[in-house]
Amino acid sequence: MDRRHFFQSSALATSGALAACASTGIASQVKTPFAVPAVHLPIVGSDEVFPVRRIYCIGRNYAAHAREMGSDPTREPPFFFQKPTDAIQVVPAGTVANHPYPPLTKNYHYEAELVAVLGKGGRDIAVDKALELVYGYSLGLDMTRRDLQRFMGDQKKPWEIGKSFDKSAPIGAVHKVQSTGHFTQGNIWLKVNGVTKQNANLNQMIWSVAEQISKLSEAFELFPGDIIYSGTPENVGPVVRGDVIEMHIDGLPNLSVKIV
Ligand code: MN
Repeated sequence: MDRRHFFQSSALATSGALAACASTGIASQVKTPFAVPAVHLPIVGSDEVFPVRRIYCIGRNYAAHAREMGSDPTREPPFFFQKPTDAIQVVPAGTVANHPYPPLTKNYHYEAELVAVLGKGGRDIAVDKALELVYGYSLGLDMTRRDLQRFMGDQKKPWEIGKSFDKSAPIGAVHKVQSTGHFTQGNIWLKVNGVTKQNANLNQMIWSVAEQISKLSEAFELFPGDIIYSGTPENVGPVVRGDVIEMHIDGLPNLSVKIV
């Protein structure tokens, strides 16, 4: 084979390899001036990892929490915000991850939440079809710079700085729905230094996971890899450096972080 034919066949082999990679979920080998890490979650019982595309979060999804945030839970449609994908902090079960106290805040809050992760996408998904999109579940913390969120909200400015900052989304591994079933009820609690702070039941959500997926899909086309933080119960509150947060949802291993 002469030199020109060698390069031509190499190029063909490369494009064939890229097509194969795309179908297996391996990032293509495009040339970039620097590397940006992809974000993945471990999948329990699998050698695959779950690629995170977008992080959606629902606001005020438990009546008592809506009231403590100053709104009327009986009249408000669900609303959503996003965190950047690289806000993920993976917290392996059985470990206590160091979680950095973020800059600019003096009122740093925990919010314990069930997280649904999607393996399928779509638009305008009917509620009775919505759970078919769910690949699995995890549990996570929607960490919040409450003072910045309130300050911006009071000025009718976007409160992104209060919600969408570095490492603001600690999360556990994904559990496949085949092994856990869907989470429509069960205890959800959070302790700080062993003292119970949040303690509720998933059946107290105003909008169920299925309803959240359906509503979200009216506003956005959903894709595999999208994950949804499904809202926190009442009694959110502050932590300081040195505090240890432990959160629990029935059927999942607990998640723990230490504020450092
Ligand atoms: Mn939240």
